[in-house]
Amino acid sequence: MHCPFCGANDTRVTDSRLVAEGDQVRRRRQCASCHERFTTYETAELVMPRVVKSDGSRESFNEAKLRAGMLRALEKRPVSAEAIEASVERIRQSLRAKGDREVNAREIGEAVMKALSNLDQVAYIRFASVYRKFQDLDEFRAEIDRLSQDPDQSPVAASSHRGGEH
Ligand SMILES: [Zn+2]
Repeated sequence: MHCPFCGANDTRVTDSRLVAEGDQVRRRRQCASCHERFTTYETAELVMPRVVKSDGSRESFNEAKLRAGMLRALEKRPVSAEAIEASVERIRQSLRAKGDREVNAREIGEAVMKALSNLDQVAYIRFASVYRKFQDLDEFRAEIDRLSQDPDQSPVAASSHRGGEH
């Protein structure tokens, strides 16, 4: 590629290594003319399916939006940033692995709920209550009942348990 400093078209790679857990290649380059050094990053261009919203409109898949929704539900919960990133990555991979050009927003919501239910029950309930907008109140109540019947899974037990030292 051309040197960004002097525009010469002869630059050479002085170092090349995998970063971002192997998803990215970082190259150090040096211009043969002006000897300036610069860095380039190479990533695979992966096409995510388009998202079909409930009103039928389409929009681009937005990873930042997905992460923001999860972080909102997980606010002040004892879940590590790495665990959250791993979940986001799993959701992204599962959507891509479907191989469809379009995916329903509802499917993404369900995937997020499933991920949150594995991470933290309180976050799961928070997200589910907002996501389902209480339109499906009976189903939501049934879900809360299901969780509270299982002492290990109940939001109350989970928070007091994780709340820690007395
Ligand atoms: Zn140069």
